[in-house]
Amino acid sequence: MTEMPYTPTDVERDALSRIRTCLGPKGWVDDAETLTPWLIDSRRVYEGRCLGMARPANTQEVAEILAIAYKAGLQIVPQGGNTGRVGGATPDTTGRQLLLNLGRMNSVRDVDAANYTMTVEAGCILKDLQGVAEQADRLFPLSLGAEGSCQIGGNLASNAGGINVVRYGNARDLVLGLEVVLPDGRIWSGLRRLRKDNTGYDLKQIFLGSEGTLGIITAAVLKLFPLPKERATALVAIADLDTAVTLLERARSASGDALMSFELMPGFALDWAEKYVEGAKQPFDTTYDWTILMEIGGPRTDGAARIALESLLESAFEDGLVIDAVLPQSEDQRAQIWFLREAIVEAQVREGAQVKHDVSVPVSQVPRFIREANAAVEEMMPGIRPYPFGHVGDGNIHYNLSQPIDMPAREFLGRYAELQHRVHDVALSLDGSISAEHGIGRSKRDELLRCKSAVELDMMRSLKTLFDPKGLMNPGKTIPDA
Ligand SMILES: Cc1cc2nc3c(=O)[nH]c(=O)nc-3n(C[C@H](O)[C@H](O)[C@H](O)COP(=O)(O)OP(=O)(O)OC[C@H]3O[C@@H](n4cnc5c(N)ncnc54)[C@H](O)[C@@H]3O)c2cc1C
Repeated sequence: MTEMPYTPTDVERDALSRIRTCLGPKGWVDDAETLTPWLIDSRRVYEGRCLGMARPANTQEVAEILAIAYKAGLQIVPQGGNTGRVGGATPDTTGRQLLLNLGRMNSVRDVDAANYTMTVEAGCILKDLQGVAEQADRLFPLSLGAEGSCQIGGNLASNAGGINVVRYGNARDLVLGLEVVLPDGRIWSGLRRLRKDNTGYDLKQIFLGSEGTLGIITAAVLKLFPLPKERATALVAIADLDTAVTLLERARSASGDALMSFELMPGFALDWAEKYVEGAKQPFDTTYDWTILMEIGGPRTDGAARIALESLLESAFEDGLVIDAVLPQSEDQRAQIWFLREAIVEAQVREGAQVKHDVSVPVSQVPRFIREANAAVEEMMPGIRPYPFGHVGDGNIHYNLSQPIDMPAREFLGRYAELQHRVHDVALSLDGSISAEHGIGRSKRDELLRCKSAVELDMMRSLKTLFDPKGLMNPGKTIPDA
């Protein structure tokens, strides 16, 4: 059955016409073909409809759109690169919401190498910003699989994590200042480049990770770091799961906390990557139970980072923690190993239906979490294939599950919520989180009721009402109904 398009009220029609006039033809999209990819989330779970997509070119235009929308009661769905994993940037199916995509706001306003900062607009693509920093001999460390298409505004709004959190922190740790347009159209110019500013509440932190529910992030001052001149990388097979924690501890100490990444992968995931993803090559002759991809950064090109890594691995071999290791000899080989890490995600999709999780627990509890979660899901569904991998250096496990070989995908996916519930229970029992880095969006909104106290939920709802009294910003996302 074809759904009838939503007919805007007179007030809404008038508001839309004023928004279109304010944006001009380049700033407005309403043809179905161009809109379609922006109405479906990156996991293809949600598909929505909208009144059209506003594509403002600057902060003033964002402010004007929001002021008009506020008066008319138009709901806004902010959108960056639309790579989010929880349906946060997808409008609902009513057709009454307005998409606000920041992609045209992609200028770098300032690079201050001496201050180790850059001031950038929300629509800048993450990978481009890494390049801008590198040109100034600096590092912007946020790095994740979607970096070629996600935008910094989306990264900050969802407090993205990625592969370098163990050393540099999440997106929220990388911000000194923000510019935000509030739901009523007022602009908060908080683009301070200060590392010390104790003048009351740290308001930027309220918007970081707020997933578009409190305002539109239009620009940010980002922290930069010295550019590592050397990256020493190793893919190692470890003796058992507990070893991952011991090796992590040692790697952080031995490198003077210059450990940049520490990624856990089950050995069979490397086989799946080689089987399904063109160009992925598993370097070991054997399928080990567990492997770690680790990387240490060094400030010089004198090989000191590699020496530190080799000596760490030597003692780990002697102590029986590490049973095999591959150290790339060139930048090409290093890139191949990282490609393998990214390929395991695609490989699991190709192997069949999946149930996904993005949990975290204290790092010391990672092995226990995996063991207990495995036991729980295997009891629920014999033959289920746990596929846990992730940024274990910071306690984040993408505890994914693949369908039993002989079970139809529909039957497996029919038990999605039940399996997810159980896995979240295990994470929560270990003081963990049900969302380490992807956020809450639409898909985990109701799960939040189980893991936040009444006091926490009350504070979240109070903030929402304070900033967005009409409930127009990304309704239905992140904050569970009372
Ligand atoms: C292959 C792949 C790998 C990934 N790996 C990781 C990973 O390692 N770590 C990780 O954390 N995530 C990862 N993600 C998820 C995703 O890339 C990140 O969440 C990313 O930060 C989202 O950025 P985006 O620009 O695509 O935002 P979108 O998906 O467009 O939006 C995300 C949320 O932010 C809001 N929003 C967007 N822009 C703004 C703005 N300017 N102001 C206010 N609100 C806004 C949206 O309404 C939505 O709620 C991955 C995704 C893919 C597809």
